[in-house]
Amino acid sequence: MTRKQRYQFVIDYFQEHAPEAETELIYDNPYQLLVAVILSAQCTDKRVNMTTPAIFEKYPDPEHLAMARFDELFPLIRSISYPNNKTKHLIGMANMLINDFHGEIPMTVNELVKLPGVGRKTANVITSVVDEQPNMAVDTHVFRVSARIGLTEKATTPLAVEKQLLQFIPRELVHKAHHWLILHGRYICVARNPKCNICGLKPACKYYNKVVLKAQSLKPKAES
Ligand code: SF4
Repeated sequence: MTRKQRYQFVIDYFQEHAPEAETELIYDNPYQLLVAVILSAQCTDKRVNMTTPAIFEKYPDPEHLAMARFDELFPLIRSISYPNNKTKHLIGMANMLINDFHGEIPMTVNELVKLPGVGRKTANVITSVVDEQPNMAVDTHVFRVSARIGLTEKATTPLAVEKQLLQFIPRELVHKAHHWLILHGRYICVARNPKCNICGLKPACKYYNKVVLKAQSLKPKAES
């Protein structure tokens, strides 16, 4: 199977089986999504979703968040990884939104990455989820799953993965493909012991065909 055919198989599979894939973060508007994505670094979406309702209630918009005091916001974030930094980032982010962006969430990657706590991955998530821009956020799941299937080759950095994926995935599907790969990595192609036995991507997957099948063929057969 060529790389192009592999991409086609994977895209066809997900279009059939996960046509409505979307983020598992709960949010009502771009401001809430931005807060949630900043909090989600090194943390599960599930835990973030347990935390954000109280934050959104107390700080419903950038104006309120910009006025927050560290010791008021910190307790709401305490149960999440890196609470110190994330508290500072959220307050700093809201202040920059007010001072430099008229309180609006900018919708370009170049502007978003200026905000405290926002890197390329977060900016790609925001612009693709809110605006369906063809930007591919590469997290640990996208990185691992893409390499295993063989969608990427010798890509050693998130940026290299991003570039290779963008080369093959049609622009109009990129915002969805991001969720396909994340959710597949979260529930099927997990880091340890991927669940290949229930995975529909087996026919196209390099790892399965080169590693799993080979290991199975080397196993001694049970005596009859
Ligand atoms: S076949 Fe296995 S390794 Fe390949 S994508 Fe599916 S779960 Fe991952």
